[in-house]
Amino acid sequence: MLSVTNLCAGYGLVQVLSNVTLFVPKGAVVALLGANGAGKTTALNTIAGLMRPTAGEVEFQGKRCSALPAHEIVRQGVSLVPEQRELFLSMTVEENLKLGAYTRNDPAEIRQSHDFVFDMFPRLAERRNQVARTLSGGEQQMLAIGRGLMARPELLLLDEPSLGIAPLLVREIFEQIRKINQLGVSLLVVEQNAKIALDVASIGYVMENGRITLQGSAEMLKSDPKIQEAYLGV
Ligand code: ATP
Repeated sequence: MLSVTNLCAGYGLVQVLSNVTLFVPKGAVVALLGANGAGKTTALNTIAGLMRPTAGEVEFQGKRCSALPAHEIVRQGVSLVPEQRELFLSMTVEENLKLGAYTRNDPAEIRQSHDFVFDMFPRLAERRNQVARTLSGGEQQMLAIGRGLMARPELLLLDEPSLGIAPLLVREIFEQIRKINQLGVSLLVVEQNAKIALDVASIGYVMENGRITLQGSAEMLKSDPKIQEAYLGV
C-alpha cells in the first residue's frame, strides 16, 4: 500500500533522513520507533507531502506521490495527524471536524464520517460545541485523529498519539486505533511509547539518526534485547 524507498530529506543543508526504506502493507498497523530527534516526524511529514524529499520515492497504491502537493496526497487517501495536533483552538469540535473534510465534496457521506467519528469518540460528541482550546490533552488528540478520519483515509499517519496524555487516556486512544484499523484503515504510527505501539502494531521499524536500523514483526522486536533495553525498560 505505502512504499517508501531510499527516502532522503532534511532542512536546508542539514540532511536528516538517509535512505529510509519502509513498507505499510494494506490493512496493517506499522510502528515507527526511535528516540527524540531520530527523524520520525521528518519521515511522516515527507510522506504526507509537507516536505520535499531530496532523493528517493514515496508510492501509495502503486502511484508515485513524492512530487504531489500535500492536499493531493490527502485526496489519494493518506491523512496525517501531526505531532502538535495543529487544531484550530478557537473553533469548536464540530468545526474542526468539518475542516478535516476539506478535500471532499460529498455532503451526505461527510455526514456519515462525522457520525463515525462521534461513535468512535463519544467524548467528542458530548463536547461537540466546545472550543478545542478547552479540551483536555487526550480529548484534543481524539479530535486530531477524528479530523484526520474526516478525510476518509485509507492510510492514517499518526505522529506520537500518546504525547503529553494521561496513561488511562493513552490506553483508550490506542484501543480506538485498533478499532480504526479493524474497520479497514491502515496505519503508520510514530511513537516513543514502544510498548503500547508494539502491542497494537504487527510490524515495526526502528529509526536512529535518520536511518532505519532495525525492522521486523512486532513480536520479534519485543523480544529483541536491544529494543528491550533501549525502548521497553526491561
Ligand atoms: P521527536 O520525537 O523529538 O519529535 P523525531 O524523531 O520526530 O523526534 P524530528 O522531529 O524529525 O525527530 O527531527 C529530526 C532532526 O531534524 C532533529 O535533529 C531536529 O532538530 C531537526 N529538525 C526538525 N525540524 C527542523 C526544522 N524545522 N529546521 C531544522 N531542523 C529541524
